[in-house]
Amino acid sequence: MESYLQRLEELYPEMIDIRRHFHQYPELSFQEVNTPEKIAQYLTELGIEVRTGVGGRGVVGTIYGGKLGKTVALRADFDALPIQDEKDVPYKSTIPGVMHACGHDAHTSTLLAVAKVFSERKDELQGNLVLIHQFAEEITPGGAKPMIEDGCLDGVDAIFSTHVWSPIPVGQIGYRSGPTMAAADRFEIDIIGKGGHGASPHTTVDPIAIGISIVQQLQQIVSRRVDPLKPAVLTVAAFNAGNMFNVIPSTAKITGTVRTFDVEVQDEIIAHMEKIIASNCENAGATFHFNYQKGYPAVINSERETEIVATVAASLVGKENTFEMPANMIGEDFSYYLQKVPGTMFFTGAGNIEKGIDYPHHHGKFDIDEKSMLIAAKVLVAATLDYLNNNE
Ligand code: MN
Repeated sequence: MESYLQRLEELYPEMIDIRRHFHQYPELSFQEVNTPEKIAQYLTELGIEVRTGVGGRGVVGTIYGGKLGKTVALRADFDALPIQDEKDVPYKSTIPGVMHACGHDAHTSTLLAVAKVFSERKDELQGNLVLIHQFAEEITPGGAKPMIEDGCLDGVDAIFSTHVWSPIPVGQIGYRSGPTMAAADRFEIDIIGKGGHGASPHTTVDPIAIGISIVQQLQQIVSRRVDPLKPAVLTVAAFNAGNMFNVIPSTAKITGTVRTFDVEVQDEIIAHMEKIIASNCENAGATFHFNYQKGYPAVINSERETEIVATVAASLVGKENTFEMPANMIGEDFSYYLQKVPGTMFFTGAGNIEKGIDYPHHHGKFDIDEKSMLIAAKVLVAATLDYLNNNE
């Protein structure tokens, strides 16, 4: 183990170079061209078997170990965001309005270093390693789903991934078993009534009156229909109808979001919404369109793989620097991998207040302490070895 960590230390300057290159030349989701090409070239030069265009723009490398064993996948995303880089650093983005503001450049560089270490020592590897370089994490429908459909998880037994996290100080690792990141959905309800004069409501089908009743009843789904021990949010964020003091409009539009950690709760909420909308409209003689768009499903980390990460992280950074993360309501399409195989996404601290690195993700001044990449690489290597060496 010590020699693997030693090698990663040696590779640290190269990790910085690679990360800064990607940082200067970021590419938006579903528009990545040079990033996957550079990744594929790097892996190919290491003698790793590479498949490009996976599910669209993904790159998958496979390292076949010299000894028989299980197969571990490691995933890193590589897309950037439509945000102007406001940092004053030599490696600032050169593309106007596009920036690696979520650290996916660091994920990529980290995974390439891990690939290098394992490719150099593949003869002693007890099993195989699949390197999943994923495009388009930031925008639904995301790159994970098409990559899985294109076979990136075939033969894989477990998957690990990390997210650098600026709210956590560098040197610390957060992990969590079970529901970790929420499913984030959006909905639109169009109520189609019959407009008319405000003085003659009896000749109209008033979509405002119907909409108010719907909004009030929607509020009772979470409070009266969902198990109180299961977290759920249903928020109506917009209600638009009419624009005159004496005209009853013919339509109203209600928009909002639903956040859940449990698929059954999510389905229950959708079913109750449908019932409430349909019965209110039917009673009043209106029609409706109900458009419910599911975002990424919830990230549900598995217990055993999370335990592996917690254990190896404690030995690498000290138990006092590891902690159980609270769940958060941010979406991540790592969830799709976890629906197929057990695995875990852990959080690698990347903030450093003394260096002024304390901006949140998706901010124009977001940056990371690059030491986080070295730490993330060590945890990924140690977790992979732990998993492969303790499996028959
Ligand atoms: Mn991200």
